[in-house]
Amino acid sequence: MRLFFALWPDAPVRAELARWSERCRLSSGGRATRAPNLHATLAFLGEVDPARLPALLRIGGRSRSAAFELCLDHVAYWPRNRIVYAGASQPSQALGALARSLNTQLSEVGHRVDQRPYALHVTLLRDAHTAPVVKVVEPLLWRVSHMVLVESVRAGGGQVYRPVHRFMLRS
Ligand code: ATP
Ligand code: MG
Repeated sequence: MRLFFALWPDAPVRAELARWSERCRLSSGGRATRAPNLHATLAFLGEVDPARLPALLRIGGRSRSAAFELCLDHVAYWPRNRIVYAGASQPSQALGALARSLNTQLSEVGHRVDQRPYALHVTLLRDAHTAPVVKVVEPLLWRVSHMVLVESVRAGGGQVYRPVHRFMLRS
């Protein structure tokens, strides 16, 4: 199974991100991420033997931090992979620590995780042909209360993300 750890926005944040995505598409083109699929990846695992699930659930549980807030405040373009994404200009200590904890533990048990420094992004558009004209957006406060282990499945010509387990952060 194809797995990743992610932050999943609640309905109001999701709805606002979907609006950003539509707005960016006017200038950038490309395909908008379907609203239910909007997320921020914390750690990407790729193809994993289902027998590894219990170990992954333990790692997720051990990484649970206190709940924290993110302020998404801009949209930008990565020409390399033609993605338009929403990001935060202020780095979040709590988010950085959570991503590091997950990725370190995953690599300790043999998963090949991304070695680059963690970069928060919510993919809004794929196959975009240029940077969005709108760059500064009304800051969006995202109260992060949980993270999810997600299975990525290709179904009916689209990508479906199925939550496998939800980890509540400490309140
Ligand atoms: P598609 O690959 O068909 O465009 P997708 O990228 O949405 O669909 P996945 O490839 O399963 O679906 O990826 C799930 C999540 O993990 C996405 O947020 C994706 O950006 C991220 N991801 C995918 N591959 C990697 C990778 N090698 N390193 C880091 N993150 C990745
Ligand atoms: Mg992909």
